[in-house]
Amino acid sequence: MLNFFPRRQSAIAKAVATLEAYGVKPAVRQHLTAFLQESDSRELYHANPRRIAERLHLSEREALRVLVTALKEGILSLNWDIQCPMCRGIDFNPKSLYDLRTNHTCPRCHTVHATDADEQVRITFSIDERLRRLGREADDPNFRAKVDAQYGVVSGHQMLTLQTFRDFFPRETIPPNESLTIRRVAILFSDLAGSTALYARRGDSRAYHLVRRHFDLLFQVVDSHNGVVVKTIGDAVMAAFTAPADATRSAIAMHQQMEALNQQLQLTAEDRLILKIGIDVGPCISVTLNERLDYFGTTVNTAARVQATSQGNDIACTETVLMDADAASAVKDCPRLGNAMSLKGLDAPILVYRIELMKAICTKASDV
Ligand SMILES: [Zn+2]
Repeated sequence: MLNFFPRRQSAIAKAVATLEAYGVKPAVRQHLTAFLQESDSRELYHANPRRIAERLHLSEREALRVLVTALKEGILSLNWDIQCPMCRGIDFNPKSLYDLRTNHTCPRCHTVHATDADEQVRITFSIDERLRRLGREADDPNFRAKVDAQYGVVSGHQMLTLQTFRDFFPRETIPPNESLTIRRVAILFSDLAGSTALYARRGDSRAYHLVRRHFDLLFQVVDSHNGVVVKTIGDAVMAAFTAPADATRSAIAMHQQMEALNQQLQLTAEDRLILKIGIDVGPCISVTLNERLDYFGTTVNTAARVQATSQGNDIACTETVLMDADAASAVKDCPRLGNAMSLKGLDAPILVYRIELMKAICTKASDV
Protein backbone atom coordinates (compact mmCIF):
# COMPACT_ATOMS: atom_id res chain seq x y z
CA MET A 1 0.00 0.00 0.00
CA LEU A 2 2.90 2.29 0.87
CA ASN A 3 4.11 2.66 -2.70
CA PHE A 4 0.78 3.65 -4.23
CA PHE A 5 0.58 7.06 -2.60
CA PRO A 6 4.13 8.42 -2.32
CA ARG A 7 3.04 12.07 -2.21
CA ARG A 8 0.49 11.45 0.51
CA GLN A 9 3.01 9.42 2.51
CA SER A 10 5.59 12.17 2.47
CA ALA A 11 2.99 14.85 3.35
CA ILE A 12 1.96 12.84 6.42
CA ALA A 13 5.57 12.20 7.45
CA LYS A 14 6.41 15.90 7.02
CA ALA A 15 3.36 17.02 9.03
CA VAL A 16 4.07 14.60 11.89
CA ALA A 17 7.73 15.71 11.97
CA THR A 18 6.54 19.19 13.08
CA LEU A 19 5.44 17.62 16.38
CA GLU A 20 9.11 17.40 17.39
CA ALA A 21 8.91 21.09 18.31
CA TYR A 22 6.34 20.18 20.98
CA GLY A 23 8.55 17.52 22.53
CA VAL A 24 6.70 14.54 21.01
CA LYS A 25 9.24 11.70 21.17
CA PRO A 26 10.66 10.11 17.98
CA ALA A 27 9.11 6.69 18.70
CA VAL A 28 5.66 8.25 19.17
CA ARG A 29 6.03 10.26 15.95
CA GLN A 30 7.02 7.10 14.16
CA HIS A 31 3.97 5.20 15.43
CA LEU A 32 1.69 8.13 14.56
CA THR A 33 3.11 8.41 11.04
CA ALA A 34 2.63 4.69 10.44
CA PHE A 35 -0.88 4.83 11.89
CA LEU A 36 -1.92 7.70 9.61
CA GLN A 37 -0.21 6.29 6.50
CA GLU A 38 -1.09 2.64 6.71
CA SER A 39 -4.41 2.35 8.57
CA ASP A 40 -7.60 1.22 6.98
CA SER A 41 -9.59 4.42 6.23
CA ARG A 42 -12.24 3.42 8.81
CA GLU A 43 -9.57 3.83 11.51
CA LEU A 44 -9.10 7.49 10.61
CA TYR A 45 -12.70 8.71 10.48
CA HIS A 46 -14.27 9.74 13.82
CA ALA A 47 -11.65 7.54 15.40
CA ASN A 48 -11.85 6.49 19.04
CA PRO A 49 -8.84 8.01 20.92
CA ARG A 50 -8.52 4.92 23.12
CA ARG A 51 -7.87 2.73 20.11
CA ILE A 52 -5.38 5.27 18.77
CA ALA A 53 -3.66 5.25 22.20
CA GLU A 54 -3.14 1.53 21.82
CA ARG A 55 -1.68 1.99 18.33
CA LEU A 56 0.69 4.67 19.66
CA HIS A 57 1.68 2.55 22.69
CA LEU A 58 0.65 5.38 25.01
CA SER A 59 -1.67 5.79 27.99
CA GLU A 60 -4.99 7.41 27.19
CA ARG A 61 -3.92 10.72 28.71
CA GLU A 62 -0.53 10.76 26.92
CA ALA A 63 -2.26 9.92 23.64
CA LEU A 64 -4.76 12.75 24.11
CA ARG A 65 -1.89 15.21 24.59
CA VAL A 66 -0.25 14.02 21.36
CA LEU A 67 -3.54 14.07 19.45
CA VAL A 68 -4.34 17.60 20.61
CA THR A 69 -0.86 18.66 19.50
CA ALA A 70 -1.53 17.05 16.09
CA LEU A 71 -4.84 18.92 16.04
CA LYS A 72 -2.99 22.20 16.58
CA GLU A 73 -0.71 21.41 13.65
CA GLY A 74 -3.70 20.67 11.39
CA ILE A 75 -2.88 16.96 11.05
CA LEU A 76 -6.17 15.88 12.65
CA SER A 77 -9.58 17.36 13.19
CA LEU A 78 -11.47 17.00 16.45
CA ASN A 79 -15.14 15.99 16.59
CA TRP A 80 -17.56 16.50 19.47
CA ASP A 81 -19.94 13.65 18.63
CA ILE A 82 -23.20 13.43 20.58
CA GLN A 83 -24.93 10.12 21.20
CA CYS A 84 -28.70 10.34 21.62
CA PRO A 85 -29.80 8.76 24.95
CA MET A 86 -33.04 7.61 23.29
CA CYS A 87 -32.21 6.06 19.89
CA ARG A 88 -28.39 5.76 20.50
CA GLY A 89 -27.79 7.41 17.12
CA ILE A 90 -24.70 9.64 16.89
CA ASP A 91 -24.84 13.24 15.72
CA PHE A 92 -21.64 14.08 13.83
CA ASN A 93 -22.47 17.75 13.30
CA PRO A 94 -20.65 19.47 16.21
CA LYS A 95 -17.19 20.40 14.95
CA SER A 96 -16.16 22.47 17.95
CA LEU A 97 -17.10 23.12 21.53
CA TYR A 98 -18.82 26.24 20.25
CA ASP A 99 -21.31 24.05 18.35
CA LEU A 100 -22.62 22.49 21.59
CA ARG A 101 -25.81 23.81 23.17
CA THR A 102 -27.50 23.42 26.59
CA ASN A 103 -30.11 21.20 24.95
CA HIS A 104 -29.48 18.96 22.00
CA THR A 105 -32.02 17.78 19.46
CA CYS A 106 -31.27 14.37 17.99
CA PRO A 107 -31.31 14.71 14.18
CA ARG A 108 -32.61 11.16 13.87
CA CYS A 109 -35.44 10.75 16.43
CA HIS A 110 -35.85 14.46 17.32
CA THR A 111 -35.59 13.79 21.08
CA VAL A 112 -34.49 16.90 22.97
CA HIS A 113 -32.11 16.21 25.86
CA ALA A 114 -29.70 18.17 28.05
CA THR A 115 -26.19 18.03 26.58
CA ASP A 116 -24.30 15.92 29.06
CA ALA A 117 -20.56 16.36 28.56
CA ASP A 118 -19.54 13.23 30.44
CA GLU A 119 -22.13 10.82 29.08
CA GLN A 120 -23.38 11.80 25.64
CA VAL A 121 -20.60 13.93 24.25
CA ARG A 122 -17.64 11.87 23.10
CA ILE A 123 -14.59 13.07 21.29
CA THR A 124 -13.14 11.46 18.21
CA PHE A 125 -10.43 12.44 15.74
CA SER A 126 -10.34 12.32 11.94
CA ILE A 127 -7.34 12.76 9.69
CA ASP A 128 -7.27 16.15 7.96
CA GLU A 129 -8.49 15.68 4.40
CA ARG A 130 -5.56 17.64 2.97
CA LEU A 131 -3.28 14.86 4.18
CA ARG A 132 -5.43 11.93 3.22
CA ARG A 133 -8.80 12.06 1.53
CA LEU A 134 -11.04 9.31 2.87
CA GLY A 135 -13.55 7.54 0.64
CA ARG A 136 -17.14 6.77 1.52
CA GLU A 137 -16.13 3.40 2.95
CA ALA A 138 -14.46 5.23 5.87
CA ASP A 139 -17.90 5.95 7.35
CA ASP A 140 -18.77 2.53 8.79
CA PRO A 141 -21.11 2.74 11.82
CA ASN A 142 -20.81 -0.98 12.57
CA PHE A 143 -17.03 -0.76 12.69
CA ARG A 144 -17.18 2.25 15.05
CA ALA A 145 -19.78 0.61 17.29
CA LYS A 146 -17.55 -2.46 17.60
CA VAL A 147 -14.52 -0.33 18.51
CA ASP A 148 -16.53 1.69 21.08
CA ALA A 149 -17.86 -1.51 22.66
CA GLN A 150 -14.36 -2.93 22.92
CA TYR A 151 -12.50 0.16 24.15
CA GLY A 152 -15.11 2.46 25.71
CA VAL A 153 -15.25 6.09 24.67
CA VAL A 154 -13.48 9.31 25.72
CA SER A 155 -16.02 11.82 26.97
CA GLY A 156 -16.18 15.48 26.04
CA HIS A 157 -15.59 16.31 29.70
CA GLN A 158 -12.24 14.49 29.58
CA MET A 159 -11.16 16.94 26.88
CA LEU A 160 -12.30 19.88 29.03
CA THR A 161 -10.05 18.61 31.84
CA LEU A 162 -7.00 18.29 29.56
CA GLN A 163 -4.59 21.15 30.25
CA THR A 164 -2.97 20.83 26.80
CA PHE A 165 -6.34 21.43 25.15
CA ARG A 166 -7.00 24.54 27.22
CA ASP A 167 -3.45 25.83 26.61
CA PHE A 168 -3.52 25.30 22.83
CA PHE A 169 -7.13 26.31 22.22
CA PRO A 170 -7.99 29.08 24.67
CA ARG A 171 -10.65 30.31 22.25
CA GLU A 172 -12.46 26.97 22.19
CA THR A 173 -15.32 27.79 24.52
CA ILE A 174 -18.99 27.08 25.14
CA PRO A 175 -21.19 29.77 23.54
CA PRO A 176 -22.47 32.58 25.79
CA ASN A 177 -25.80 31.75 27.45
CA GLU A 178 -25.24 28.02 26.88
CA SER A 179 -24.04 25.45 29.40
CA LEU A 180 -23.10 21.79 29.44
CA THR A 181 -24.21 19.34 32.09
CA ILE A 182 -21.40 17.56 33.91
CA ARG A 183 -22.69 14.58 35.86
CA ARG A 184 -19.66 14.08 38.02
CA VAL A 185 -16.65 16.27 38.57
CA ALA A 186 -14.28 16.50 41.53
CA ILE A 187 -13.53 20.12 42.37
CA LEU A 188 -10.44 20.93 44.44
CA PHE A 189 -9.67 24.29 45.99
CA SER A 190 -6.31 25.06 47.56
CA ASP A 191 -5.18 28.18 49.37
CA LEU A 192 -1.96 29.23 51.04
CA ALA A 193 -2.25 29.49 54.81
CA GLY A 194 -1.10 32.82 56.24
CA SER A 195 -0.13 34.39 52.93
CA THR A 196 -1.11 37.90 54.06
CA ALA A 197 1.40 37.63 56.89
CA LEU A 198 3.96 36.20 54.45
CA TYR A 199 3.66 39.27 52.19
CA ALA A 200 3.97 41.56 55.23
CA ARG A 201 7.08 39.76 56.56
CA ARG A 202 8.91 38.97 53.33
CA GLY A 203 7.99 42.03 51.30
CA ASP A 204 5.80 41.94 48.20
CA SER A 205 8.34 40.90 45.60
CA ARG A 206 9.95 38.05 47.55
CA ALA A 207 6.56 36.77 48.72
CA TYR A 208 5.21 37.00 45.17
CA HIS A 209 8.19 34.98 43.90
CA LEU A 210 7.40 32.25 46.45
CA VAL A 211 3.73 32.27 45.51
CA ARG A 212 4.66 31.94 41.80
CA ARG A 213 6.85 28.92 42.56
CA HIS A 214 4.00 27.38 44.51
CA PHE A 215 1.65 27.95 41.54
CA ASP A 216 4.10 26.32 39.11
CA LEU A 217 4.36 23.25 41.33
CA LEU A 218 0.59 22.97 41.81
CA PHE A 219 -0.05 23.31 38.05
CA GLN A 220 2.36 20.44 37.36
CA VAL A 221 0.79 18.28 40.08
CA VAL A 222 -2.74 18.84 38.75
CA ASP A 223 -1.71 18.07 35.15
CA SER A 224 0.13 14.91 36.17
CA HIS A 225 -2.96 13.73 38.08
CA ASN A 226 -5.28 14.00 35.07
CA GLY A 227 -6.76 17.30 36.16
CA VAL A 228 -6.95 20.85 34.94
CA VAL A 229 -6.44 24.17 36.70
CA VAL A 230 -9.67 26.07 36.07
CA LYS A 231 -8.42 29.34 37.51
CA THR A 232 -6.45 31.00 40.27
CA ILE A 233 -8.07 33.45 42.65
CA GLY A 234 -5.47 35.42 44.62
CA ASP A 235 -3.25 32.67 46.07
CA ALA A 236 -5.96 30.05 45.64
CA VAL A 237 -6.22 27.41 42.92
CA MET A 238 -9.40 25.85 41.62
CA ALA A 239 -8.85 22.53 39.83
CA ALA A 240 -11.19 19.97 38.25
CA PHE A 241 -10.81 16.20 37.86
CA THR A 242 -13.06 13.59 36.29
CA ALA A 243 -12.23 11.10 39.09
CA PRO A 244 -12.27 11.93 42.83
CA ALA A 245 -9.26 9.63 43.40
CA ASP A 246 -7.19 11.86 41.09
CA ALA A 247 -8.22 14.84 43.22
CA THR A 248 -7.24 13.18 46.53
CA ARG A 249 -3.93 11.91 45.12
CA SER A 250 -3.29 15.36 43.69
CA ALA A 251 -3.95 16.92 47.13
CA ILE A 252 -1.38 14.61 48.75
CA ALA A 253 1.18 15.39 46.02
CA MET A 254 0.53 19.14 46.44
CA HIS A 255 1.33 18.93 50.16
CA GLN A 256 4.43 16.86 49.40
CA GLN A 257 5.64 19.39 46.84
CA MET A 258 5.16 22.24 49.33
CA GLU A 259 7.07 20.32 52.00
CA ALA A 260 9.90 19.63 49.53
CA LEU A 261 10.00 23.32 48.55
CA ASN A 262 10.02 24.38 52.21
CA GLN A 263 12.98 22.07 52.83
CA GLN A 264 14.78 23.17 49.69
CA LEU A 265 14.45 26.87 50.53
CA GLN A 266 15.09 26.19 54.23
CA LEU A 267 12.16 28.38 55.15
CA THR A 268 11.69 29.22 58.82
CA ALA A 269 8.70 27.80 60.67
CA GLU A 270 6.67 30.98 60.22
CA ASP A 271 7.49 31.34 56.49
CA ARG A 272 6.75 27.74 55.50
CA LEU A 273 4.27 27.37 52.67
CA ILE A 274 1.32 25.39 53.97
CA LEU A 275 -1.71 24.52 51.87
CA LYS A 276 -5.32 24.33 52.93
CA ILE A 277 -7.21 22.03 50.58
CA GLY A 278 -10.88 21.16 50.13
CA ILE A 279 -12.56 18.72 47.74
CA ASP A 280 -16.13 17.88 46.78
CA VAL A 281 -17.50 15.71 44.00
CA GLY A 282 -20.85 15.88 42.25
CA PRO A 283 -22.71 17.33 39.31
CA CYS A 284 -22.30 20.84 38.00
CA ILE A 285 -22.52 22.80 34.78
CA SER A 286 -19.72 24.03 32.58
CA VAL A 287 -19.97 27.47 31.02
CA THR A 288 -17.72 30.12 29.55
CA LEU A 289 -17.04 33.01 31.88
CA ASN A 290 -14.45 35.74 31.24
CA GLU A 291 -13.56 33.90 28.01
CA ARG A 292 -12.59 30.81 29.98
CA LEU A 293 -14.20 27.44 30.61
CA ASP A 294 -15.51 27.43 34.16
CA TYR A 295 -17.69 25.32 36.42
CA PHE A 296 -20.74 26.39 38.39
CA GLY A 297 -23.10 24.81 40.89
CA THR A 298 -23.48 23.46 44.39
CA THR A 299 -20.48 21.14 44.04
CA VAL A 300 -18.22 24.13 43.31
CA ASN A 301 -19.67 26.16 46.20
CA THR A 302 -19.40 23.21 48.57
CA ALA A 303 -15.77 22.55 47.64
CA ALA A 304 -14.94 26.21 48.33
CA ARG A 305 -16.73 26.15 51.72
CA VAL A 306 -15.15 22.85 52.67
CA GLN A 307 -11.71 24.26 51.78
CA ALA A 308 -12.29 27.04 54.30
CA THR A 309 -12.55 24.41 57.08
CA SER A 310 -9.09 22.98 56.27
CA GLN A 311 -6.48 23.73 58.91
CA GLY A 312 -3.40 23.15 56.75
CA ASN A 313 -1.43 20.00 55.82
CA ASP A 314 -4.72 18.14 55.58
CA ILE A 315 -7.54 17.47 53.13
CA ALA A 316 -11.02 18.65 54.00
CA CYS A 317 -13.57 16.77 51.93
CA THR A 318 -17.20 15.79 51.86
CA GLU A 319 -18.50 12.34 52.63
CA THR A 320 -19.29 11.93 48.91
CA VAL A 321 -15.57 12.04 48.07
CA LEU A 322 -14.81 9.19 50.49
CA MET A 323 -17.75 7.15 49.18
CA ASP A 324 -15.61 6.65 46.07
CA ALA A 325 -13.58 3.51 46.83
CA ASP A 326 -10.48 4.67 44.92
CA ALA A 327 -10.47 8.09 46.56
CA ALA A 328 -10.89 6.51 50.00
CA SER A 329 -8.09 4.04 49.35
CA ALA A 330 -5.68 6.88 48.46
CA VAL A 331 -5.97 8.19 52.04
CA LYS A 332 -6.72 4.95 53.87
CA ASP A 333 -3.68 5.16 56.17
CA CYS A 334 -4.38 8.72 57.31
CA PRO A 335 -6.34 9.60 60.44
CA ARG A 336 -9.65 11.28 59.71
CA LEU A 337 -12.29 13.08 61.70
CA GLY A 338 -15.87 13.57 60.49
CA ASN A 339 -17.99 16.52 61.57
CA ALA A 340 -21.51 17.57 60.59
CA MET A 341 -21.07 21.21 59.58
CA SER A 342 -23.41 24.00 58.58
CA LEU A 343 -21.58 25.75 55.78
CA LYS A 344 -22.39 29.24 54.58
CA GLY A 345 -24.77 29.21 51.63
CA LEU A 346 -25.78 25.55 52.00
CA ASP A 347 -29.25 24.63 53.25
CA ALA A 348 -28.55 21.58 55.41
CA PRO A 349 -25.51 20.59 57.51
CA ILE A 350 -23.17 18.24 55.66
CA LEU A 351 -20.63 15.72 56.86
CA VAL A 352 -17.12 17.07 56.33
CA TYR A 353 -14.01 14.99 56.92
CA ARG A 354 -10.65 16.34 57.86
CA ILE A 355 -7.94 13.95 56.76
CA GLU A 356 -4.60 14.48 58.45
CA LEU A 357 -1.69 13.99 56.11
CA MET A 358 1.37 14.97 58.11
CA LYS A 359 2.86 11.46 58.04
CA ALA A 360 2.10 10.87 54.36
CA ILE A 361 3.65 14.21 53.43
CA CYS A 362 6.84 13.85 55.47
CA THR A 363 7.58 10.26 54.47
CA LYS A 364 7.43 11.10 50.79
CA ALA A 365 8.59 14.73 50.58
CA SER A 366 12.19 13.61 50.17
CA ASP A 367 11.29 11.57 47.06
CA VAL A 368 9.68 14.41 45.09
ZN1 LIG B 1 -32.27 9.98 18.80
